[in-house]
Amino acid sequence: MHELSLAGSILQLVEDAAQREGFKRVTLLRLEVGQLANVELHALQFALAAIAPGTLLEGAKLAFDEPAGQAWCQHCRQTVAMAERGCACPLCGGYALTPNGGLSLRVVDMLVADSS
Ligand SMILES: [Zn+2]
Repeated sequence: MHELSLAGSILQLVEDAAQREGFKRVTLLRLEVGQLANVELHALQFALAAIAPGTLLEGAKLAFDEPAGQAWCQHCRQTVAMAERGCACPLCGGYALTPNGGLSLRVVDMLVADSS
């Protein structure tokens, strides 16, 4: 389950920001998890909850944005919806698709507190 290592990277990123900006605690962490990011949202939520105790993510609320997956269809010459990797084009049924949207996992923003 690679969500656990993703959660670790997210924590690292938050800790780096805390050092840079001098905050002690995160009250809300908003993440973008694209539909095609290859991340299982519930597994990521679980992993973050598992590593949070004792860190500055302890007690933080989590919010998730889930941008829809999109892909460029070479046949249709346009961007089409793609719910999952490996899906066929909804317009032509072909597989000449290059994913180009909903691919990212990133921290969108966070609300922080100065004291713990
Ligand atoms: Zn197509």
